[in-house]
Amino acid sequence: MQVFKFGGASVKDADSVRNVAGILKNYKDQSLVIVISAMGKTTNALEEVVEAHMQQTGKAGELLEAIKERHLALMHDLFDPGDDVFSEVNDTFVEAEWVLDESPSDSYDYTYDQIVCVGELVSTRIVAAYLNKIGLPTHWLDARDVIITDNTFREGWVQWDKTKPNAVKIVQPLLEKGGYVLTQGFIGSTTENFTTTLGREGSDYSAAIFSFALDAESMSIWKDVPGVLNADPRLFEHTIKLDRLSYREAIEMTYYGAQVIHPKTIKPLQNKSIPLYVKSFLDPKAPGTEISSDTEDTYPPIIVVEKNQSLLHIVTTDYSFVAEQHLARLFTELASLRIFVNMMQNTAISFSICVPNVPDRLEAFKKVVADEFRVKQEDGLELITIRHFNDETVASLKKGKVVLFEERIRNTLQMVVRNVPVVERRTVELERAKG
Ligand code: ADP
Ligand code: ASP
Ligand code: MG
Repeated sequence: MQVFKFGGASVKDADSVRNVAGILKNYKDQSLVIVISAMGKTTNALEEVVEAHMQQTGKAGELLEAIKERHLALMHDLFDPGDDVFSEVNDTFVEAEWVLDESPSDSYDYTYDQIVCVGELVSTRIVAAYLNKIGLPTHWLDARDVIITDNTFREGWVQWDKTKPNAVKIVQPLLEKGGYVLTQGFIGSTTENFTTTLGREGSDYSAAIFSFALDAESMSIWKDVPGVLNADPRLFEHTIKLDRLSYREAIEMTYYGAQVIHPKTIKPLQNKSIPLYVKSFLDPKAPGTEISSDTEDTYPPIIVVEKNQSLLHIVTTDYSFVAEQHLARLFTELASLRIFVNMMQNTAISFSICVPNVPDRLEAFKKVVADEFRVKQEDGLELITIRHFNDETVASLKKGKVVLFEERIRNTLQMVVRNVPVVERRTVELERAKG
């Protein structure tokens, strides 16, 4: 049994759905669980619906209607007007409309999950119906019947002891009947049947959950890139495709923020030695990247850039040293506000951390520690991580940047940088030209 995952970009319009079906045709009669994300940028659009509903701007209904219209247009391209899929998709949107009819609940995150899940529910209805239509028998499965999480809405923690037996009990018999099993990425359910989501970009992780629970032979994620590259192709030219990565290298890369795979994906696969293939849905015959085993290869420098970072310089208001009890307090507050610390550095009287700039969380943090600490915040920074660095790569990444702090641990170099303002850069260049 294999698990395939197709992300938003692979099902963004009718032709993309046909392309996915074309790939799946090559696996006819094989045992396949297929995990699919919301179409294109649907999740972003649904986030706007949530925001409008929570703020009661009066626009939520309209925004949801626009999403529905886009799905209907795509469906008219793929199906005859009388196809059952129209009522299935319509019923799913009606459930979201009901949420909007109620006044917003106190919990933003709870409401978020009840609305945003619609993206995956409708995309899977559409793709499953299309596969059945073209003669590839497919069972549609509600992932919420299998993946059970705790009540942490928007970041559900998987309860493996419930999820694993569910998968065996529900998915196995469907596979035995023949035909593909197709389900949603990103969503799960609490034991009280409330929908949860696993965190943005979580569909890769969903596929890994199914792979682990069903002891898959392999998992493949189909992307719009030839495989895992040594840097984000949107930021760098001349990237190199990595043919093979160890689990460990993949875990490190994604932990530092390489967006190509969700960071939680690799661990369950490593645990059961299930190989992960990252392949291109635009060139399905090409080999892609294989992530397997822990034998190390030699790697070229691998670069991960995380934008929109802030540096917090923290000092005690009574000018005492920053000691263990201070750090304990700071980390307790950071953890409870879910502020992830990417890098840290301390001196006798100050403590600095690099964190993603999520304004409401950082404001809340400053407020809650104000009794003991003064916090200076610097925004607009980048965190650059280079694995297997060499001098040439480091020098080229520093060009046009001011390095605020830098750390090297074995083969990993990290630096927090800000761009040199254009005027300043010209001056530097002029100085250099003058010799
Ligand atoms: P999905 O459609 O499965 O959600 P994503 O858009 O989340 O796919 O991930 C694929 C994108 O990740 C690529 O289009 C690419 O721009 C970006 N990306 C960032 N870093 C890398 C990397 N190191 N290798 C390959 N792609 C990367
Ligand atoms: N649709 C979700 C998102 O856009 C999950 C995913 O695509 O992985 O975040
Ligand atoms: Mg994604």
